[in-house]
Amino acid sequence: MRLVLLGAPGSGKGTQAARLKDHLQVPHISTGDLLRAEVAAGSKLGLEAKEIMASGNLVSDEILLGMLEDRFSRDDTKGGFILDGYPRNLAQAAALDQLLQRIGQPMDYAVQLEVPTEMLVERIAGRAKAEGRADDSPESVRRRLQVYNDQTAPVVDFYRQHGQLTVVNGVGSLDDVFTRIVEALAPAKEVG
Ligand code: AMP
Repeated sequence: MRLVLLGAPGSGKGTQAARLKDHLQVPHISTGDLLRAEVAAGSKLGLEAKEIMASGNLVSDEILLGMLEDRFSRDDTKGGFILDGYPRNLAQAAALDQLLQRIGQPMDYAVQLEVPTEMLVERIAGRAKAEGRADDSPESVRRRLQVYNDQTAPVVDFYRQHGQLTVVNGVGSLDDVFTRIVEALAPAKEVG
C-alpha cells in the first residue's frame, strides 16, 4: 500500500507512521528524518538544510525532490511505503504525483490527522522536553505552524480533489488513533 500521512507538526504523523510500518510491512519514509540524518552526517546537503530547519522554514523543493527520487529508487519501496513530512506545499504535491506516475506507483491514500491547534502546541512542548529537537524552540514552533497553515494545508485539498483523501480524528490515545487509521485503510487492504 502507498500511503501519505498529512497533518500539522505535533499531529502524531511520525508516531503513527512508525506503527503503521510494522502493521503494513512497508518502509516509513520521513523527509524530516532523512534531513536530520544529513545534518548529523555533516554532508553538504545537511549543512545547507541545518539553519533552515532550525528556523522552522522549508528546505528547497529541489533538494527534497532529489532526496525522494533517490529514496524511491531503492527496492524496498516496490511493495509500497508510508510517506511522512512530504508534500509540504502544492509544488511538492504536484512533483510527487508526477514522480509516482512515472514509476507506475500512484498513491492509494492520503490520510489527514486532524488535531486542534491548542493541542498541537501542547504536544510539541511535551516532545521538546522529551527529545530536545533543535526546531522545537517556541519561535521555531510558531513558524512551523504558520508554514503549515500557509503552505501545507492546501495540500489536503489537492488530495481531496484527487479523491485520495481520508480524514482521521487525531485526538485520543496512540492506540485509538492507530485503530482509526487502520479502519480507514481497510477497504484498500482488502482489494490489494
Ligand atoms: P518534520 O520532522 O517533518 O517536522 O521536518 C522537520 C523540518 O525539516 C521541517 O520543519 C523543514 O524545515 C524540513 N522538512 C521536512 N520535510 C520537508 C519538506 N517536504 N519540504 C521542505 N522542508 C522539509
